[in-house]
Amino acid sequence: MAVSDLINLSGLLDDAKCFALVRQHRWPEGARCPVCGSGAVIRDGHDDTQLYRQRYRCKACAGRFDDLTGTVLAGHHQPLRVWVLCLYFMGLNLSNRQIAGELGLDGSDVQTMTEQLRRGLVAKAPEVTLKGEVEPDARASSGIDEVYVVAGHKGQPAAVAKRGGSDGVASWQARRAAARWRRTSHRSSA
Ligand SMILES: [Zn+2]
Repeated sequence: MAVSDLINLSGLLDDAKCFALVRQHRWPEGARCPVCGSGAVIRDGHDDTQLYRQRYRCKACAGRFDDLTGTVLAGHHQPLRVWVLCLYFMGLNLSNRQIAGELGLDGSDVQTMTEQLRRGLVAKAPEVTLKGEVEPDARASSGIDEVYVVAGHKGQPAAVAKRGGSDGVASWQARRAAARWRRTSHRSSA
């Protein structure tokens, strides 16, 4: 039985934390204007319908934007919670069909979502310094892999890595997550 038959998973997620996750990922050092790149931005209230979606105004170019502007998450009918869960399931190597089952969504909708997420969360990916053994084509998706690491893999990274047997982003991402998990556990036990 799918989890969604028992509980509405997305309903259990905290909206405020989902938006904080996106902010932390795209602006680790504070919000920047997606138009001119200036860091001189001020908070400008919240979205009318999404309580935790922060709006900003750029003091340099007077542009207005919010947490999701310029990301694949903007302008979609699915709530951010559903995207975050989708990311989580992708991190566990679930198929589109399995994700659709868990989220109670149409398979083709989920396929569109996962394709977009694989291309990257933010249209213009932030600069990321990658160290160690990184496959050449992994750089393009480095941004989203960071989100996988944050959103998922808190539980059983070894099992996830083992399942990621196929080539491509999924297995790379699982290995990276497992490596991150090991680093993190070393640090916290030191
Ligand atoms: Zn600006």
